[in-house]
Amino acid sequence: MGELQANASNMLGMLRTISQEVNAARDLPAALAIIVRRVRAAMNSHVCSVYLYNAETDRYVLMATEGLNKRAVGKVSMSPGEGLVGLVGSRGETITLEDAMSHPRFLYFAETGEERYASFLGTPIIHHRQVLGVLVVQQKERRQFDEGDEAFLITMSAQLSGVIAHAEATGSIRGLGSKRGKGIQEARFAGVPGAPGVAMGTAVVVLPRADLDVVPDRTTDDIAGELIILDQALGAVREEVRLLSARLVKRLRPQEQALFDVYLMLLDDNALAGDVRRLIKSGQWAQGALRQVVEKHLQRFERMDDDYLSERAADIKDLGRRLLSHMQQAHQQTLDYPDNCILVSEELSPGMLGEVPPGKLAGLVSVAGSRNSHTAILARAMGIPTVVGAQDLPYTRLDGIQLIIDGYHGDVFTNPGPVLCQQYQRVLQEEESISRELDSLRQLPCITPDGHALTLWANTGLLADVPRALERGAEGVGLYRSEVAFMSTARFPSESEQVQLYREQLAAFHPRPVTMRTLDVGGDKPLSYFPIKEDNPYLGWRGIRISLDHPEIFSVQVRSMIKASAGLDNLRILLPMISGVHELEDALYHIHRAWQELVDEGHAVTMPAVGIMIEVPSAVYQARDLAGMADFISVGSNDLTQYLLAVDRNNARVADLYDYLHPAVLQALQQVVTAARECGRPVSICGEMAGDPAAAVLLMAMGFDSLSMNATHLPRVKWLLRQMPIQQARQLLQQAMQLDSPYLVHSTLQLALEDMGLGKVLNPGAGVQI
Ligand code: PEP
Ligand code: MG
Repeated sequence: MGELQANASNMLGMLRTISQEVNAARDLPAALAIIVRRVRAAMNSHVCSVYLYNAETDRYVLMATEGLNKRAVGKVSMSPGEGLVGLVGSRGETITLEDAMSHPRFLYFAETGEERYASFLGTPIIHHRQVLGVLVVQQKERRQFDEGDEAFLITMSAQLSGVIAHAEATGSIRGLGSKRGKGIQEARFAGVPGAPGVAMGTAVVVLPRADLDVVPDRTTDDIAGELIILDQALGAVREEVRLLSARLVKRLRPQEQALFDVYLMLLDDNALAGDVRRLIKSGQWAQGALRQVVEKHLQRFERMDDDYLSERAADIKDLGRRLLSHMQQAHQQTLDYPDNCILVSEELSPGMLGEVPPGKLAGLVSVAGSRNSHTAILARAMGIPTVVGAQDLPYTRLDGIQLIIDGYHGDVFTNPGPVLCQQYQRVLQEEESISRELDSLRQLPCITPDGHALTLWANTGLLADVPRALERGAEGVGLYRSEVAFMSTARFPSESEQVQLYREQLAAFHPRPVTMRTLDVGGDKPLSYFPIKEDNPYLGWRGIRISLDHPEIFSVQVRSMIKASAGLDNLRILLPMISGVHELEDALYHIHRAWQELVDEGHAVTMPAVGIMIEVPSAVYQARDLAGMADFISVGSNDLTQYLLAVDRNNARVADLYDYLHPAVLQALQQVVTAARECGRPVSICGEMAGDPAAAVLLMAMGFDSLSMNATHLPRVKWLLRQMPIQQARQLLQQAMQLDSPYLVHSTLQLALEDMGLGKVLNPGAGVQI
């Protein structure tokens, strides 16, 4: 039995420490050096090496080793068809050999001094199904690596694959990457579409306040300026510490007071400040210099066993944070926003958008966040291409580099090469020319050449959505997301505040209908003043479930909606997340009661039509029962896709699986339309799918009466449907319904539309070859 297997908790501890060290490594070579050194020690082997796959040369290149001749690093390489490393890489499987030299694939490289090593254990490093490289341990004498050894190496390699992928990406961004050995390269990072559109521009990274860990390195020409920033920050922090000390003077003993003197000493030139000053003079900006110095001091202190000294590490951290906060204030005022700037942040806030001078903001990228975050909603209303949830993006390293944002597909490209730039330039030009052409469509109805009419509505939330929707010719509102207004207040809005809000919407579109959805919070839509903490929020307290559990909130909302519609009579109420008939019955009870109360109070209000959203699979199967009780049906394809396919719609890792053209989704939609028709109820759809022109062709053919979408997409959809005879759309649907894979549905639609000469309206960027 291997030494490692003998002590599982020891192994876990070791894995954790190695991962932490690797995570903290400055760049890829440093990360690899740690891996080989620590794994060799942990496995008590003679050699540990990492080979990384270079896609351009199709070879596994020795990138780090402990045990082999270090001069072979970067020189020794083998193709997938060569050597044991090539075998592990091409098979994607672990190989253990007691006598490696007798294996037919054994390959000898004089540079490595390899002939002395008899046993071999190699495991592939795989990230997102791709083999990034091979991790190898070797032993001089014959050694039967056992299952415990194998398990350790596999676990190690699985843990490290993400780190290596991240380090490679980071390196490729700043030209440190060893992957192809050519410096700066184009790289693609997957996120989630936040707001449609394409942007090409320069990244401006907005850092969270006073978080030393994420401060990037940045060279500066203005050394004098950065030194002034340092001195001002030092002065301000000294003053802060003195104030703190003075405030506590009565509550602390003299010995404890002395701690503040230590604090002040740490700020001296022969401690932190001097080191920072030296780094700035070497050309590093003040914040980067501070981070480096604090990191160095922390590492030294944290290694010490002495409690007193490790406490000093906490002091250094605190001082570092205080200094950084002052430096950032100084830097904030001088943040330079180039033309076509793309804001990049861990978590974008609406305030950050407000700081960019008008006309300069081209796009937004957020590492965290979801498509329903406040910023994404705002970006959609403002028409700024946005990608959210780009979790693997090493965003702190992006400042000043060129980016392309594809808000249709949720992709971010760093350092785009000429070919990709040209492709996206073409997309931008096409967008411009289409939007000029589409302007003329505003007043025209959405009727197919063979006379089939379809209603096109807009989705709204913010007030800013109203003029955009009207400008683009929306015939009404198919989904007013009432929670959006609730997200920007500090408490639930009062009845009179709500009445005013709803009246503005209803009046702006009058006499066109406005479909107001009752509060749909929970899941990815939080209210700061109504926190919900759940392990599984999408399957938890969401939408109508909250409203029915809080009739005092629900009743005020529907009362306000009905009251606001007095004299306008263009209100329709829509209920989110209905999963069965009881919920609809209960909601109808509250709505009728609210209406009756208003009538009793003397308001001249009519009872609005009440519809339900079908976005939970159970509602698909019960569509007939539900349609029988509701006045209309609206399909929420965003949630329906997420629940049918069991794919979180905000998780970039599974974004490839999220597809509303999945045959299962198409079947469900057809089933809902059939049920609604049988009950004689109008049926619409208001998820993102409705705004995808190609998907809209299928929806029209299925029999949807209206499509409701982000106003940005409306002209495109209208342009296509006005040229698409319903007969042909039905044939296309029939064809699509026979297919068993979403990829086939996509390509069938694309081909058919291109054959008809209508390809240019397809989802922009769809044809971009990456
Ligand atoms: C939907 O789920 O399709 C929908 C329109 O609702 P939301 O995106 O607001 O959850
Ligand atoms: Mg929904």
